[in-house]
Amino acid sequence: MFERIIDPISSIIFPQECNTCGGPSNESAVGVSCRKCWDETCLFTGHEILCRRCGALLGAYGGPLDVSCHKCDGHLYERAFAVGVYEKALASEIVELKRTPFISKFLNAIAFETLQRNAVGNVDVIIPVPLSKERFIERGFNQAAVIAKTVGKHMNIRIDELSLTRTKHTPIHRMSMDRRARELTVEKAFSVERPMLVHGKSVLLIDDVLTSGSTASACANVLMKSGAANVIVFTLARAVLK
Ligand SMILES: [Zn+2]
Ligand SMILES: [Zn+2]
Repeated sequence: MFERIIDPISSIIFPQECNTCGGPSNESAVGVSCRKCWDETCLFTGHEILCRRCGALLGAYGGPLDVSCHKCDGHLYERAFAVGVYEKALASEIVELKRTPFISKFLNAIAFETLQRNAVGNVDVIIPVPLSKERFIERGFNQAAVIAKTVGKHMNIRIDELSLTRTKHTPIHRMSMDRRARELTVEKAFSVERPMLVHGKSVLLIDDVLTSGSTASACANVLMKSGAANVIVFTLARAVLK
């Protein structure tokens, strides 16, 4: 009886097969992928060349350099940074995070390291990118809020899940969508319900993946219009756009 209750839970937390390569994996601390797959995943170390604003990967070595990809020129957040590239073990972990509100010990540790390296010192409030009501009901939780909670707890910063809301149900972004198509789907999709709570505040906006940055920019737009002092964006992964 006891085993029957425990088994389904342990199979989520301790998968027998690596979700990335299908090989054996029984090390729960590294999540749903094996250590070999994590070793092959591009996790940022501070030596890459990244766009100063959106964090796009512009070169694997030779950084940090003060450069811009210019695709993010109109974006309204101050800067965005991520743990690594949306690929291999990191992608598997994020796919799993949409099914199970759980982040592995290993990913938590590198996320905290990334936050420290990017000198996120003066944040007043952490705000997760909200889901639409429809998607929240469908999923049962907001994966961005799961990340926000672990970061908030680690940094001892208040989390505000109520001020920023998604007013429009937008289709899921596809990697194949071009920049303008992405921007059109998120423009006017967000609003700030409690402007007084963000007024004058330095905001750390959190999401699972940053793709073009248009979602983060749309959030930053309404937060800044509500008087936020600045918006910095942290995501677990950065998608590399073709
Ligand atoms: Zn693997
Ligand atoms: Zn950029």
